[in-house]
Amino acid sequence: MSSDTSGSHGWRRSAACRSADPDLFFPAASGRRFVEQVERAKALCAACVVRRQCLQYALGANEEYGVWGAMTEDERRRAAGRARVWARLAREDGPGPHPVGPALDGAAVKVPAGEESP
Ligand code: SF4
Repeated sequence: MSSDTSGSHGWRRSAACRSADPDLFFPAASGRRFVEQVERAKALCAACVVRRQCLQYALGANEEYGVWGAMTEDERRRAAGRARVWARLAREDGPGPHPVGPALDGAAVKVPAGEESP
């Protein structure tokens, strides 16, 4: 969600939310109204041609609030956390499949001793 149309954020000129109610993208803190606002915002995002750029911007800028690229702040935080875990695993074990995500190169799964599934 944005109103800035200048500089390196030119993608914002094509944003589907340019004329939308900003309250949809910065919804009430919780409850039924929150869920309804988020659903409406995500529906706009789903049809937005700059969704990827929007989400990349929000993740890179650590936008703490609002719906950006069809993700709420909590969803972005969880995604960023998963990305950090993936990066750590890649550094420690090299690229490869992991039970919590898609395979990177088809290599065998390395499960640390004592952390096998029951
Ligand atoms: S993805 Fe959603 S929040 Fe981002 S510019 Fe498009 S409509 Fe706005």
